Amino acid sequence: MTRFAPSPTGYLHLGHVRSAIEGWRAARDSGGRFLLRLEDIDQTRCRDEYSEAILEDLSWLGLTWDGPVRKQSEHFDDYRDALDRLEAMGVLYPCFCTRKEIQEEIARAGGAPHALSGPPYPGTCRGLDRRLREEKQLSGIDYALRLDLARALALTGLLDWVEEEEGGPHRKPADPAPLGDVVLARKDVPTSYHLAVTVDDASQGVTLVTRGEDLAAATHVHRVLQALLDLPTPRYHHHELLTDPSGRRLSKRDHALTIRSMRECGIGPTEIIARAVSRENASGPARR
Ligand SMILES: [Zn+2]
Repeated sequence: MTRFAPSPTGYLHLGHVRSAIEGWRAARDSGGRFLLRLEDIDQTRCRDEYSEAILEDLSWLGLTWDGPVRKQSEHFDDYRDALDRLEAMGVLYPCFCTRKEIQEEIARAGGAPHALSGPPYPGTCRGLDRRLREEKQLSGIDYALRLDLARALALTGLLDWVEEEEGGPHRKPADPAPLGDVVLARKDVPTSYHLAVTVDDASQGVTLVTRGEDLAAATHVHRVLQALLDLPTPRYHHHELLTDPSGRRLSKRDHALTIRSMRECGIGPTEIIARAVSRENASGPARR
């Protein structure tokens, strides 16, 4: 059981097709099922128009999925339940810091706030006393709920997962420390990417997660959440990302590489899929 899980914040481009193909092929090769999930928890950025376009583009490409499409926005109760369980374990705490305060705190500690992936949250609010926490939460100001990673790891012990690599399956130890105390929910939204993905993969019975290597770091913390919530661990395959000729990864900025615009230019599904799985650069003349 594999899945493709795009966010409907724009049109599908070649990079998405690469991810979809990885999951689709793995499912079709093994007689398994290929599921589709729309990761639309950020209601300010997601649009129904894009959701519809994603389904249409995938169908046109022949990347058909099995069963109903799961929309994360329809499952907030599931995430709230998971959050309540984590809360009961004492591995969550509210964080009242603004983005700016977090950067200042990291700078004070000698970190580099502008590093590419960024240093983890410095833990400013981890030690707030209970009374102050409750006062602040009741005052109506915004806050996020963060995972207390040290407490979580004390409960889970050492963890690992099976990564499907070119040369075969390989056990990878989970090292979530570089991500630190990640945000699992916000005052008004009972989930974040990390929590929703972990809960959904288990609810949907996903046994192989295929996704871009940019999300490999997140897997370390997803593994911790699986252990805390007593959920099964899928196998993972993190595939390389498509880049443009200058080596930059494809993104929504690359309008010419959306499936829509390629289709308008008369490029057919077979060629789009060939480009998506090619090791050459996705756009422009292939470099040899
Ligand atoms: Zn904080």
